[in-house]
Amino acid sequence: MKDSVNTPPVLELSGVSKTYRVKQGLFGKVKPLTAVNDVSLQLGRGEVLGLVGESGCGKSTLAKILLGLEQPTAGHVKIDGEEITQQGRLALARRIQPIFQDPYSSLNPRKSIYDVISLPLRVHGIGDEESRKKKVKEILDVVGLPQRVMNTYPSQMSGGQRQRVAIARALIMKPEVVICDEPTSALDVSVQSQILNLLGELREEFGLTYLFISHDLAVVEHLATRVAVMYLGEIVEQNTVAGLFDAPRHPYTQALLKSVLTPEPGLGVPDTQLGMAYPNPIAPPPGCHFHPRCPRATDLCKQKAPRHIPIPQGHVACHLHDPETPMYEQE
Ligand code: SF4
Repeated sequence: MKDSVNTPPVLELSGVSKTYRVKQGLFGKVKPLTAVNDVSLQLGRGEVLGLVGESGCGKSTLAKILLGLEQPTAGHVKIDGEEITQQGRLALARRIQPIFQDPYSSLNPRKSIYDVISLPLRVHGIGDEESRKKKVKEILDVVGLPQRVMNTYPSQMSGGQRQRVAIARALIMKPEVVICDEPTSALDVSVQSQILNLLGELREEFGLTYLFISHDLAVVEHLATRVAVMYLGEIVEQNTVAGLFDAPRHPYTQALLKSVLTPEPGLGVPDTQLGMAYPNPIAPPPGCHFHPRCPRATDLCKQKAPRHIPIPQGHVACHLHDPETPMYEQE
């Protein structure tokens, strides 16, 4: 299913899949685990695409593929029309940078803040020591940290300050795309909105494009322009923020919106609406993968996988929206 954006795509994924070979137990058979299944997405310049789903749905695997840390098993990923697999890791790192969930574990505790932020410049051989210092001071200003923190260490900072350092390190190379992987879920609620506001301001100031990965729909609503909902490695619904929040079509999206979001980072969305637990991706349910948890499931759902059906500004994969199935419900 082709995704659609209103601006030329800076990042484009088409039919991207990632399958691992996983051994179950010491003498168990090796089985395929499809973490990402035929995902197509486009990000226009300056857009924020929210990627939402429970823990283990494949969001972070997708992020690793975009960062060149994993190779897709199938499909294409292009930045400005160029295949990312054709680019070296360093060349790719100039264009796509990550901000991860836990700023403490993603920052080397033995390095000063200056060393942490200037590392990408040194790795890429940009400037001399003096110009690098100047750039670090400038980027500290941009992320709202005083210049004196340059000589301190991550352990001397609060969680929010450390995430500002991680943002500074990501932006010092002036990337085109930033992959934000749960960037606020390890932070106190009071600090989360400060970091979200900062990310929003930086996007406007530098024309950044974000893929914003989160299990927290409230966070996504705050920042994203469009949202893709992921379940067992597949995008099951995609729409503009307004379209998705005003009229969620997929029963999984509807359940996510009804769920009470957990304040516990990493736990994902509590399945108060969904009954049974998230299925094992090594043995996904047949037909529509969501059918064992879906309140609208019928026998057809158990046998036949739904098609992606176009909706205004997006698409949804559910028989209820497919005019060619007996389950079709006209909107
Ligand atoms: Fe539910 Fe069936 Fe739609 Fe899947 S196809 S989401 S099981 S109604």
